[in-house]
Amino acid sequence: KSRTKIKALLATEPTGQDVTVMGWVRNFRSNRFIALNDGSTINNVQIVVDFENTDESILKRITTSACLKITGKLIASQGSGQSVEIQAESVEILGDSDAEKYPIQPKKHSLEFLRENAHLRFRTATFSAVFRIRHTIAQAIHKFFSEKGFVYLHTPIITASDAEGAGEMFRVTTLPIDGSAPRNEDGSIDFSEDFFGKSTNLTVSGQLEGELGATALGEIYTFGPTFRAENSNTTRHLAEFWMVEPEMAFYDLEDNQDLAEEFIQYIIKYAMEQNADDLKFLDQRLKDEEKSLPQDKRQEFGLLEKLEFVTNNKFERITYTEAIDILLNSSHYKKKKFKFDISWGTDLQSEHERYLVEKHFKKPVIVTNYPAAIKSFYMRLNDGCEEGRQTVAAMDILAPGIGEIVGGSQREERYERLVARMEEMGVPVEELSWFLDTRRYGTCPHAGFGLGFERMVQFVTGMGNIRDVIPFARTPKNCEF
Ligand code: ATP
Ligand code: MG
Ligand code: MG
Ligand code: MG
Repeated sequence: KSRTKIKALLATEPTGQDVTVMGWVRNFRSNRFIALNDGSTINNVQIVVDFENTDESILKRITTSACLKITGKLIASQGSGQSVEIQAESVEILGDSDAEKYPIQPKKHSLEFLRENAHLRFRTATFSAVFRIRHTIAQAIHKFFSEKGFVYLHTPIITASDAEGAGEMFRVTTLPIDGSAPRNEDGSIDFSEDFFGKSTNLTVSGQLEGELGATALGEIYTFGPTFRAENSNTTRHLAEFWMVEPEMAFYDLEDNQDLAEEFIQYIIKYAMEQNADDLKFLDQRLKDEEKSLPQDKRQEFGLLEKLEFVTNNKFERITYTEAIDILLNSSHYKKKKFKFDISWGTDLQSEHERYLVEKHFKKPVIVTNYPAAIKSFYMRLNDGCEEGRQTVAAMDILAPGIGEIVGGSQREERYERLVARMEEMGVPVEELSWFLDTRRYGTCPHAGFGLGFERMVQFVTGMGNIRDVIPFARTPKNCEF
């Protein structure tokens, strides 16, 4: 009961008072100094063991990752670094750890190695920092929208619709998989016999349901897991990821951009306040890593400088057409350095997005008004487009190191246009009749966006691979536990 967490302890005035801490050994030096961590902070507390009065058998059991209970006196630290340390009076072993076999040794492991030992990587300084920051960002999301009066609407995980129409869905079924599932006359599986009486899948986005909420509650957001069976082995795609999706009545595309920009800046500021130590650690980690790179491959700015800059500067706002012009006129394009070709009408690839952000503008960029043909059916058609260049009121936010982190749009609120677009794009109008009721009964202009939560965590932590910002990553051929 009297346990003090290390974070609180390190902020305490040392007056020789009795304290008890529990945690795991990060390091044990000279049979004397234990660096103990309990997960409450990136920092370890130093324990000074009275080795003359401590049993040999106990000393032997103080190994990396062993779990200890320490009771002792909190005193001012003699050494440099920390202000306090504990003069141990008793060392109790709560859990032994075989130092020979323990996979995470007290040395620097590569992120690849730790990914393969993902079940233990929480115990490293890097990952504990990342997951504390992930927690903070989740809190910031609720805080931001609550302060603005948005309603947190829980949209379903099992759905009967494919919001994106991209066909990247995980099926949900209780039908047998051994070939004995009931069949229709044409040989296809008869889902009317299935649990829900129809074919169902894991949600790819909560947007359509979110629009039902927004067109009655005014401003809502969903925040939950989303699933996409896309076979993308990239550093920014997961099969299971979390998405934040606000949806707002009476917002146009500009209001939508303003909100998204304010939201991202708010999250970063909050993380910088709440996780200063963790961010300082990650900033240094990146700097150390970069030392092994040639000068021209190193980042111009450190992580903290980047975050500071992003919170204090407006994002660049350009249209898709302007983005294409910039790319086509770049020396990068002329020297054929892009892998994917580009022309008006093609979608921006990650390499193009990152060029715009990292090389051209050197700040986050909001790209608007994409060609209608490459965007979803629910985005609002822009009036007065040139022949053959029909655009929609879409916006993507592009961030350094990642590319797209937000996709959003003003929604098509005009019933006839929406139905025409659905028919043109082969979206089943009948099945989405419930969605169309928002346009049938008191339709209103509205807008919304989806922020990839893990991509936001990548942005804030500077982690290069999305697998390293989610506790349990699900990617193609990878679902260990
Ligand atoms: P991308 O172009 O990177 O494949 P997208 O355009 O398919 O993304 P959207 O449908 O616009 O993605 O989804 C909204 C947001 O959700 C994206 O901006 C991104 O931040 C996030 N997101 C999309 N797919 C994934 C994924 N597979 N893993 C992690 N985050 C994702
Ligand atoms: Mg995608
Ligand atoms: Mg995209
Ligand atoms: Mg998108």
